[in-house]
Amino acid sequence: MIGSPKIEPLSHAITRKLQTKSHPDIIAVLSGATMHKLILSLLLLVSTSGILHSQQYDLVLEGGRVMDPETGLDAVRNVGIRDGKIVRISPESLSGRRLIHASGLVVAPGFIDLHQHSQDLASQRVKALDGVTTALELEIGAPDVAQFLKAKEGRSLIHYGTSASQVAARSLVFSAPLPEGDILPKSGPATQQPASPEQINRILDRLRGELDAGGLAIGMGIQYTPGATRLEVIDVFRLAAERRLPVYTHVRSSGRVEPGSSIESISEVIGAAAITGASLHIVHINSTCSSDSMECLSMIEGARARGLDVTTEAYPYTAGMTAINSAVFNPGWQKRMGIDYGNLVLPETGEHLTKDRFDALYRSSTTHFVLVFGYTQEVLDQVIPNSLVMIASDGLEGHPRNAGTYSRVLAQYVREKGTITLMDALRKMSLMPAEMLERSTPAARLKGRLQEGADADIVVFDAESITDRSTFEKPMEPSTGVRYLLVGGTVVVDDGKIVDGVFPGRALLGLGKRWP
Ligand SMILES: [Zn+2]
Repeated sequence: MIGSPKIEPLSHAITRKLQTKSHPDIIAVLSGATMHKLILSLLLLVSTSGILHSQQYDLVLEGGRVMDPETGLDAVRNVGIRDGKIVRISPESLSGRRLIHASGLVVAPGFIDLHQHSQDLASQRVKALDGVTTALELEIGAPDVAQFLKAKEGRSLIHYGTSASQVAARSLVFSAPLPEGDILPKSGPATQQPASPEQINRILDRLRGELDAGGLAIGMGIQYTPGATRLEVIDVFRLAAERRLPVYTHVRSSGRVEPGSSIESISEVIGAAAITGASLHIVHINSTCSSDSMECLSMIEGARARGLDVTTEAYPYTAGMTAINSAVFNPGWQKRMGIDYGNLVLPETGEHLTKDRFDALYRSSTTHFVLVFGYTQEVLDQVIPNSLVMIASDGLEGHPRNAGTYSRVLAQYVREKGTITLMDALRKMSLMPAEMLERSTPAARLKGRLQEGADADIVVFDAESITDRSTFEKPMEPSTGVRYLLVGGTVVVDDGKIVDGVFPGRALLGLGKRWP
């Protein structure tokens, strides 16, 4: 099955790659005896350098419970870090320039958030305190990939990256470019009209340029551009397939009313993936499918069983949040989504909306975000433990998911309800998103793993006490329990506190590869 967990440890995989790919001709011409000598010399060199450099780890995490979801390692180990990499994982004691005592704490791969909208430093700080070492804007994507990457270079606490935005490309082609800082268009003619064949070509051209600039995928918010025809959607998937990059999508609609149900919307994108061969990631299955989430998950399971590369994610809250002047709230939304004005809450004030208040905000040219309480805790409690579901926050300031998603899963589902094992939770937060990212960049092969040779993106936390503290009233309250966080070997959370003035975050870039 595509995307099933790989169990080969990183060091083996790298050795195999060296043997079979990079130097096949060298290996072929060496005789057995020469080969034997060469291997011995190499081993000697490795062990000598081991002795010489054993004093030279930049940092050693000492005596923690080291957990790696790929190999299944779950044991007390010492971790030696040098030059941003995990160099050694050993039961023997290691010495380094700095020692961090991790006994009683879990040492795990840093969490990878595939779905993070707020990309400012305040959000990065609460993400870091929630265990996140990489936070990517993939659902919709930044409107201008080059500008996004330039703005973050040297100024990012954690790793970053973005998809190419179909929503922004479409807005540009319809001569209604998104206002500075916005990623979603206001509902209007540009979001409602179908694109002509010529306009579709211009949308695709813009997306090609954005992928060339380093976009990791194509991000589609179909519900925000309901004028996009099924054919336009398929054409965008075709481009993704041609570039061998995935599509991340917020699907066309949600609710139970046909046409336009969640089930129909999931069918549309699975169909587009089947037709084109593009990999597909369906964002926030919890808020998209709400009461039908388990049906939607069984559709994804069925598609995967037929060989399609379809993945999904959820966040552990019973409310979504989106722009109130967007096409999501076009007339008829109550019937479509099965909710009413009272389900909509302004995050700043806690005010439940009335018809008059809603009408004013929907017409406003200023974008206001609104919390949407649309489904129950019971549904969520079935979705989060499902083995297909990765954890991703959909992080946006104003919603507690921005600061609390990862700690909340660890506190509620691992510790309190006991419906997910700690290792499976780590898999959902690190390995599964890393594997998804491997569709976009080989750099992801070194992330999401606590293994020798992997990037030193590491979270060290107290599994007994880790807790989210953000609420709908205080959405930016940081989680507690993450004691240390390393981003590329640099300590960014030290004894539970953010380190000021360090910006080790690096860009993850798509290759924009074409078919050979
Ligand atoms: Zn969304």
